[in-house]
Amino acid sequence: MGTESKSNSGQVIHLGKDNSLANVYMKELRCKETQVNRMRFRENVYRLGQIAAYEISKSLNFSTTTIETPLAEAEAKVLTDQPVIATILRAGLPLYHGLLSFFDEADSAFISAYRKHDQFDGFEIEMTSISCPTIKDRTIILCDPMLATGQSLVKTIKAIQNLGNPFHIIICTVIASEEGIEYVSQQFPTFPIYTFAVDPELNAKSYIVPGLGDAGDLSFGPKIQE
Ligand code: URA
Repeated sequence: MGTESKSNSGQVIHLGKDNSLANVYMKELRCKETQVNRMRFRENVYRLGQIAAYEISKSLNFSTTTIETPLAEAEAKVLTDQPVIATILRAGLPLYHGLLSFFDEADSAFISAYRKHDQFDGFEIEMTSISCPTIKDRTIILCDPMLATGQSLVKTIKAIQNLGNPFHIIICTVIASEEGIEYVSQQFPTFPIYTFAVDPELNAKSYIVPGLGDAGDLSFGPKIQE
């Protein structure tokens, strides 16, 4: 079996740059008239997860194996190693499902984290649980639809690294802010960030502008503010 790999270390891979259906799904996610259809919102994030999975797969290692068709032997390619798809609950679930539907034999990791607000509109990331398979030497695809300040991603990556030494971490988002990309890349310069949009600003509450609003609420409904 031969092995091939292509690396995208440390880059932002902007999947919305060229015209494609991804931009149509993104338009529906952002538009305040269409985004309120919760099922459609989740479905569009799911579809972006599938597109991202296809693009990310191009950077993974493949092996060549021999199979038998009903007529003859043929060479076929398979993933050399199955990745771990990790997500941060709860907003990450539709993107995670999209990725998992393509990486259908991957393992999964779930991190529970939220913004714990203080009285001055500031917040800290509170991580309450992490449920993870063995990650030593494995490729982790960490998905979080909104890369805003980058604090929750950085905290999550550090928590994952504390559990073992992964081979590589690939970040997958729907929208990333310039500030968030900067913050994550400074700490983890070799981890690629796949995203469908790069937005210029954060507002006073650290929401991405223009962004799309609260991805968790749009997917699953409003929740009590912590
Ligand atoms: N989380 C969201 O859902 N939206 C943002 O803009 C930032 C964080």
